[in-house]
Amino acid sequence: MYDAIVVGARCAGASLAMLLARKGYRVLLVDRTTFPSDLALSTHYVHQAGIARLKEWGLLDALIASNCPPITRFHFDFGAFALSGSPPAANGVVEAYAPRRKVLDALLAQAAVAAGAELREGFSVQDVLWDNDTVTGIRGRRQGGDDISDTARMTIGADGMHSLIARAAHAPEYNTKPPIQGPYFSYWSGVRMTGFEFYPGLYRGAFGWMTNDNLALIGVGFVAKDHPTVRANIEAAYLQAIRDDAPDLAERMAGGRREERFVGGLVPNYFRKPYGPGWALVGDAGYLKDPCTAEGITDAFESAALLAEALDSAWTGRESMAAALAAYEHTRNERATPLYEFTCQLATLAPPAPDMQRLLSALRTNQEQTNRFFGLFAQTVSVPEFFAPDNMQHIFEASGS
Ligand SMILES: Cc1cc2nc3c(=O)[nH]c(=O)nc-3n(C[C@H](O)[C@H](O)[C@H](O)COP(=O)(O)OP(=O)(O)OC[C@H]3O[C@@H](n4cnc5c(N)ncnc54)[C@H](O)[C@@H]3O)c2cc1C
Repeated sequence: MYDAIVVGARCAGASLAMLLARKGYRVLLVDRTTFPSDLALSTHYVHQAGIARLKEWGLLDALIASNCPPITRFHFDFGAFALSGSPPAANGVVEAYAPRRKVLDALLAQAAVAAGAELREGFSVQDVLWDNDTVTGIRGRRQGGDDISDTARMTIGADGMHSLIARAAHAPEYNTKPPIQGPYFSYWSGVRMTGFEFYPGLYRGAFGWMTNDNLALIGVGFVAKDHPTVRANIEAAYLQAIRDDAPDLAERMAGGRREERFVGGLVPNYFRKPYGPGWALVGDAGYLKDPCTAEGITDAFESAALLAEALDSAWTGRESMAAALAAYEHTRNERATPLYEFTCQLATLAPPAPDMQRLLSALRTNQEQTNRFFGLFAQTVSVPEFFAPDNMQHIFEASGS
């Protein structure tokens, strides 16, 4: 019997397995994929707060060794004017990185194994085991193999947005919002990006940054209602948006070459109750939001750290399992909700409301507050703190508006 079985071995699951194994727990980490493995539907930008976690866990040097370039600047170009700057550091970390998932996820899975977790790849979980109303483990199989059952004190779903563990445990979903926008993106050689570049258009927005192998990831987000039209000719819609809204980027791309197929799609927004008797959820399995602010990986690290602390607190007898997991849900939601609402608003890709227009205009002459605005994305400035009436007044007074 294991202490924990973690289903899903990417950002959330491998991090959690590593943290629990480092505390001395017996952990089985399973995934139906084999590593290294890319995750197609992710633009894999990891903000300063996420990178600070990798540094804390001793994994940042390995990431840097993958030759993934550091990113320190944001550049939001609204056409009539642009805002550029660098967000405040996260525990001394000023760099973001956008590693390919085949790099990042393999590194995390290796770290879990190095910590003592047992990694079972190519293993697909079919169902959970029950003892009355308590989950006691998993049943799964390798391709073409026989069913294998394993038991644990805690079975954890780190199995992404279509989580089988969440479904099997009937995890209630709340604060759900339907898909708002979604990107189509690809990888380009011969194009340099200057940081996290974003070019808001009308109900669409172009963006891009550098990743491994000297490639630029360049995408365009389209609102959900336009996806059927966009899907009819992705390349045409993508290039048209970049030509119209980001002419400078279009010029750079004219000298480059698209190296991979287009990938894209829409995702919903939700929170799920992340625990019950014998089971818990972490990462996208428990909480998902629109990718326009690129927070999913950073959030997955955060929820893995919170859940590892909660389980350790219960298993060492510092508090009951019920109290520890209730605190896990409470803390996760308290930290995530303001950015969730901010992200869902931005994801409409609608013209900025008058208040936001006034703010963006005031930021043009205020570099310090522009940097703090970018800190909302880097998760180094909190949404309630930045939008507090005092701070808004301070910004407007400084600009004379
Ligand atoms: C279009 C798009 C762009 C995005 N861009 C960014 C970005 O730039 N930055 C960012 O931080 N986030 C981004 N995200 C979000 C980010 O990709 C996710 O938040 C992140 O991958 C969540 O990690 P996870 O470990 O929770 O789940 P996942 O990465 O989805 O991993 C789940 C794992 O579980 C395994 N699994 C599932 N079911 C089973 C089963 N039954 N048996 C065995 N294994 C199973 C899968 O094989 C998979 O390996 C984006 C998302 C989308 C949709």
